[in-house]
Amino acid sequence: MEVLKITPRGYCHGVVDAIRIARRVREESDGPVQMLGYLVHNHHVTDELQEQGVGLIDSADRLAGLEQAKDGTVIFTAHGVSPAVKEKAQELNLRTVDATCSDVVRTHDLVKRLASEGYEVIYIGRRGHPEPEGVVGEAPGRVHLVQEFEDVDTLEITGEKVAVTCQTTLSMWDTDAMIERVKRRYPDVEVYNEICRATQERQEAAVEAAQHVDVVIVVGSQRSSNSKRLVEVVKNLGGKPAYLVDRLEDINLDWLRGATKVGVTSGASTPTQLTRQVVEYLQELEVLA
Ligand code: SF4
Repeated sequence: MEVLKITPRGYCHGVVDAIRIARRVREESDGPVQMLGYLVHNHHVTDELQEQGVGLIDSADRLAGLEQAKDGTVIFTAHGVSPAVKEKAQELNLRTVDATCSDVVRTHDLVKRLASEGYEVIYIGRRGHPEPEGVVGEAPGRVHLVQEFEDVDTLEITGEKVAVTCQTTLSMWDTDAMIERVKRRYPDVEVYNEICRATQERQEAAVEAAQHVDVVIVVGSQRSSNSKRLVEVVKNLGGKPAYLVDRLEDINLDWLRGATKVGVTSGASTPTQLTRQVVEYLQELEVLA
């Protein structure tokens, strides 16, 4: 089967940096080293780190998770944490290492500044994801998390200064639509689109490539926001079927029936060797009737 390897794909700078930090900290530290949640949203990466001696505190709530840390070093993940988590880690006398992606740090700084200048901040993000949890925590009460149009429609903001920003790994197109919805309610809103360059480039490439293939396989984890958004944008903007696979064994041959050319991309936290396995497997595959 003909395979189009979509570029750019795979690791972004934030993921590369976080993995490098975690490995270095493990090598240089005595005592327990633990990541507070998945360092990046791919279990192949976190499994490998655990094999190398970096423990995993797998708690949906970062604050509650800290209670399990007991002692040693705690690594804040690439998605960032709220100031409350940093303070609590200090109270618990834990040594902390911050592996937050620089693009996420920029959003934290932006929201902190806006809140200090008296803005109400509308933050477009996914509930339950650690990145919004951390950013909203910069100014609780002043940052309003919205995920769907209805959330925008039911906002109750009375302040005059309103700004809108977003999670780094959302769909570019869905976010534009959400921003337009916000503008309808708050015409003077200041817009700060914080979707990171890595996410934008991967989405644009996947949508463009969809024009030249019959189906797209996205290699990435169900936990990974940017991987799931790649599937969505291929379907919704590229108009082609798209499937998320965590590993080679997840591929369902029924997806490929009648297809002669398949596109392959991967999320920003997907190890290269997994994507390579998928590409090689598909290249070996006969076209299925
Ligand atoms: S996807 Fe973007 S925000 Fe997330 S780690 Fe990568 S570069 Fe940073």
